[in-house]
Amino acid sequence: MAKKTAVVTIERNRCKGCELCVNACPKQVLAMSKEINDKGYFYAEVVNQPACIACKFCGMTCPDAAIEIAVEE
Ligand code: SF4
Ligand code: SF4
Repeated sequence: MAKKTAVVTIERNRCKGCELCVNACPKQVLAMSKEINDKGYFYAEVVNQPACIACKFCGMTCPDAAIEIAVEE
């Protein structure tokens, strides 16, 4: 059975930099940026997409619905 993967997209200007998604991800796919978004926050970004196991924890955790997860079967 092929490993499940997902393409994770974070809408940077919805992000308020709470870091919950970074901490929720079991595979260190996400990290905080070194630049700020339009709201003035360091935002979460995808830094290791191939490691994603499509668990969706990040999307479930985000209080601002800034994360989109497109699961690939
Ligand atoms: S779906 Fe799971 S593995 Fe993929 S980025 Fe989100 S929390 Fe990490
Ligand atoms: S959980 Fe949502 S608001 Fe918080 S850092 Fe991640 S993307 Fe940004």
